[in-house]
Amino acid sequence: MPDLGAIDLPEFMPGTVWLTGAGPGDPGLLTLLGLHGIRHADAIVYDALVNPEILNFARKDVELIYAGKRGGRPSASQPDISGRLVQLAKSGKRVLRLKGGDPFVFGRGGEEALALTQNAVSFRIVPGISAGIGGLAYAGIPVTFRTINSVVTFLTGHDAGGEVPSNLDWRAIAAGSPVIVIYMALRQIGDIAEKLLSAGREGSTAVALVSKATSRDQQIILTDLAHCAAAARDAQLQPPAMIVVGPVAQLHAQLDWFRTWQA
Ligand code: SAH
Repeated sequence: MPDLGAIDLPEFMPGTVWLTGAGPGDPGLLTLLGLHGIRHADAIVYDALVNPEILNFARKDVELIYAGKRGGRPSASQPDISGRLVQLAKSGKRVLRLKGGDPFVFGRGGEEALALTQNAVSFRIVPGISAGIGGLAYAGIPVTFRTINSVVTFLTGHDAGGEVPSNLDWRAIAAGSPVIVIYMALRQIGDIAEKLLSAGREGSTAVALVSKATSRDQQIILTDLAHCAAAARDAQLQPPAMIVVGPVAQLHAQLDWFRTWQA
């Protein structure tokens, strides 16, 4: 059985930043390249949604820096985080920036990469499994299914100010995309459902609410567009959560494989 050394993985050079996706929660969903980076990093700047178990792979003397926006701790602003990455890299450290899911999917990884480039810091992107694909797979929901949809739309329930994005063409989305996967949607679920209904989607459209995907506390509620806001409220659904709109949501009822593997 070859160990990691048998694969030609890039060397983590001092003074560089690896913008790394940790996946949706289950530590097994980290990539080999992500694991390699974590093992060699001098400093790890990590977000709230990163499973802390993953940090156990880091060196004993690693500098761990929390940059999350949850958990009651004061939130670091985006310029602060980018500035910190630049400063750590300029001091010669191997800096691993660890983000939930994939760093380039609703994760501000692009903004951080731009800041690094503008400050002449070399970086790599280490992609991760995004919650809207791999997380839904753990919920038994394929984001595409040949007889249901040949297009899927990923959208965020928050713009930079925390509101439902106002520049979206809801009619086009409602009419053009049978399946809509919505990140960061729990707080705005009523507003989002209302927008899709007034844009022409039927109240009976299947909806799955997926909370804490890939973790032991994973919870899925099957409902419909007319009732999803009330269902989330009644169940006191916990973040992080996604909303899946469209017939693929119903496949959860038949494909809920993850529950059967939990002791
Ligand atoms: N870059 C991340 C997304 C960051 S935005 C990725 O690619 O997955 C954060 C949002 O992702 C949360 O509000 C939630 O909507 C979703 N999310 C992340 N992890 C999740 C999980 N384990 N279960 C359900 N939703 C999750």
